[in-house]
Amino acid sequence: LEEQVRRQERLASLGKLVAGVAHEIKNPLTSISGYIQYWQRSKAPTAKSLNTIYREVRRLDSIVNKLLFFAKPTNQVLTRVSLNQFVEEVLNFFTETQADGIKFTLKLQENLPDVYIDPGQIEQVLINIIFNAIQAMPGGGEIMVSTGHQAAENLFYIEVRDTGCGVPEQLLDKLFDPFFTTKAKGTGLGLTIAHEIMHAHGGRIEVKSREGAGTTVQILFPGGRKNEPETGVGC
Ligand code: ADP
Repeated sequence: LEEQVRRQERLASLGKLVAGVAHEIKNPLTSISGYIQYWQRSKAPTAKSLNTIYREVRRLDSIVNKLLFFAKPTNQVLTRVSLNQFVEEVLNFFTETQADGIKFTLKLQENLPDVYIDPGQIEQVLINIIFNAIQAMPGGGEIMVSTGHQAAENLFYIEVRDTGCGVPEQLLDKLFDPFFTTKAKGTGLGLTIAHEIMHAHGGRIEVKSREGAGTTVQILFPGGRKNEPETGVGC
């Protein structure tokens, strides 16, 4: 019975997702076919209209790419990873590509034990969280990334804190809904996917935010692994 209930729940959320997808894909398609019909009736396309079409196609592509994650929940390959080293590597990407007017600060807790994660998936989660933080600070600001251990539940975490626009309280519980976005070019799938990935890791993602003050996002991982080999090869 429990299995059936779970299946029902999964189908219900899948139905919601599919309805959202249909809507998200229909809008750009309507705009693209509108332009094409217009060109058929009149003269050659202008550079501006081609730009619009190109943007819409890119948006469709980005939506489809993210959907592939749901269609084929990727096989999770757990690897033994030092959270601190992992965070440093991901942050290198951002400090090298440099976001304008953004100051990155890193605060790593020493002597954290290794965790078992799928580095590719968690990198996707962390990059998305940091991109969100950057986009929340169009006029510049500070991003503080830290690692730590939360003793109450024995969870290890990566935290990303920004000094950006924050999230209005009434929107906080919508953030993980598929396609919820406040951005003109957002897909609203980043946090939905992050939530899925963290859940699959036996962990979770938490957002605390105050409008106008900034946002703190934590991703939390359980420590260790059952049946962990005494002398693992490290990965
Ligand atoms: P997207 O970035 O495409 O909008 P996400 O699922 O990653 O999709 O985020 C959903 C929404 O959550 C964003 O549109 C934004 O309103 C809000 N949000 C996420 N992170 C932050 C942040 N650091 N600061 C302010 N708002 C945020």
